[in-house]
Amino acid sequence: MKKKITYSKILEIKNITESTYILRLEKADFEFKAGQYLVLNVPGEYKAREYSIYSPEESPTIDLLIKEIETGEVSRELKYLKVGTKVEITGPFGFFVLRDSLNEQLKHYTFVATGTGISPFHSIILSNPELDYDIIHGVKYLKEGYESGSFKNDCYHLCTSREHGENYHGRVTGYLKKHGIRKDSVYYICGNSAMVNEVTELLEESGILPSDIRTEVFF
Ligand SMILES: Cc1cc2nc3c(=O)[nH]c(=O)nc-3n(C[C@H](O)[C@H](O)[C@H](O)COP(=O)(O)OP(=O)(O)OC[C@H]3O[C@@H](n4cnc5c(N)ncnc54)[C@H](O)[C@@H]3O)c2cc1C
Repeated sequence: MKKKITYSKILEIKNITESTYILRLEKADFEFKAGQYLVLNVPGEYKAREYSIYSPEESPTIDLLIKEIETGEVSRELKYLKVGTKVEITGPFGFFVLRDSLNEQLKHYTFVATGTGISPFHSIILSNPELDYDIIHGVKYLKEGYESGSFKNDCYHLCTSREHGENYHGRVTGYLKKHGIRKDSVYYICGNSAMVNEVTELLEESGILPSDIRTEVFF
């Protein structure tokens, strides 16, 4: 897929929680594979940041799910830009996409995310409605389940570390240990580096081959 720089208009900024929002951009002829990311820059500034694409491949817009970081620069600035402002996007980048073919045993996908690490999985799952998957999403509070209604009910497993609900209370590693690690699955992990490393270690200790584990680190 050809990489290019596009100047894309902001169509909408929709708050999902008080700190997380969807930045909706004009798509024009920007193409990508579900799971990939782009690099976004506000024209005239030199503060580019990577963002995974949240919307599915066929969507008429490019949606990004962004967490406003209190001490951050770009994630805060983007939230207050005006609809109609043009931003610079480059890409697509990355190899965090579905494998071309799965062998006979491995037809199931397990997606593990923390926070906005859910974004590439949202794109992958909505782009491939027939996929057999489980998605394990670690957050602090219940409201950070974001748009969990996009996923099949029994496939989405919310893990909250600081709030009790009907869901699993604890971290994604605790969830995996409690519910067991499927040997017939390919694993995709996305989020902060500590979680990605911990889950990778746990999977490898459980006999999952490194070639059946893919990772994307946000920070
Ligand atoms: C491949 C890739 C894809 C990414 N996709 C997304 C995405 O879909 N959504 C998204 O919100 N971010 C994503 N990020 C992170 C994003 O690029 C920025 O780092 C983030 O928006 C913070 O930028 P900032 O300028 O506001 O803060 P900065 O000043 O650059 O960083 C401040 C601090 O914020 C922390 N931080 C960075 N990202 C996060 C986060 N998501 N949650 C909690 N703490 C964080 C880090 O510790 C960092 O040191 C991605 C990063 C990579 C490498």
